[in-house]
Amino acid sequence: MIVIIGSINMDLVLRVPRMPMPGETLAGGKFMTIPGGKGANQAVACARLCQDGTPVAMVACLGSDAFGGQMRASIVANGIDDRYIADIADEATGIASILVDDQAQNSIVLAAGANARLDVAQLERARELIASASIVLLQLEVPMPVVTYAIDMAHALGKTVVLNPAPAQALPAGMLEKIDYLILNEIEAAMLAEEESDDIPMLVAKLRSRGARNVVVTLGEKGVYGHFERAGARHLDAQKVKAVDTTAAGDTFIGGFIAALDAGRDEFTAIAYGQAAAAISVTRTGAQISIPMRDEVRL
Ligand code: ADP
Repeated sequence: MIVIIGSINMDLVLRVPRMPMPGETLAGGKFMTIPGGKGANQAVACARLCQDGTPVAMVACLGSDAFGGQMRASIVANGIDDRYIADIADEATGIASILVDDQAQNSIVLAAGANARLDVAQLERARELIASASIVLLQLEVPMPVVTYAIDMAHALGKTVVLNPAPAQALPAGMLEKIDYLILNEIEAAMLAEEESDDIPMLVAKLRSRGARNVVVTLGEKGVYGHFERAGARHLDAQKVKAVDTTAAGDTFIGGFIAALDAGRDEFTAIAYGQAAAAISVTRTGAQISIPMRDEVRL
């Protein structure tokens, strides 16, 4: 069982020829509402990419609006256990307003809505679920005290704890030591290491010196750098594809990486599997809808 504790958002996606300047009104292209949120995206990626029918469950909050019902239906349709996803009265479901330009770059504004209402009491109600997990995966789109509590709980229960520290923000002291795999992009790595540098091995060394045992940095089209306690450090190239929308590339990579780890594969094989899945996702528009199925990616 893989348990994801995190966000669910409805993505409001608009294609634009370029990013607007402050004060500018721009004629956009196609508009779409697409299920998203880092937590839900990574849950869907795990569910689609696990090879052996490993169950996937989410602990999360939805609002009492139309998006909430649509998001729950989408989560259930992906085979994810939704028993620990709460409906919050008088609250909006989280949304992300996403602009995607002709260069496939994206620009995102989040409104947390119900995601900000996930609390420790809900985690305690999900204790039995978390205790039955092999891997517990978190991001930073739910309140930091809840993330901290969940990591403490999962670590104390002996689970493999994976954190994707996104959106980037400072982590409480002592958190890195309880994380088995820290998976982040280069911007998040520089921010957490408190260094303005693109020297990835140096940034990773700094994070490891602060207690992170296994660190995976995704580098967009440049691939992935991983440094592991057992397997050592290596850079793996990304697959060469024509990218049209990189939204959820990182989420897809994480789902694939975790699916492969859960299947007992070594860490660099897990990186290759995650990258193969992410390469497919960038050739398609949108977040969850761009995540490939297990039959499309070879493990
Ligand atoms: P995030 O979306 O979190 O910033 P990245 O942009 O680093 O994550 O992308 C995650 C992974 O997706 C990369 O490590 C790579 O494997 C794959 N990927 C992203 N962009 C491309 C691309 N243009 N071509 C091929 N693979 C890509």
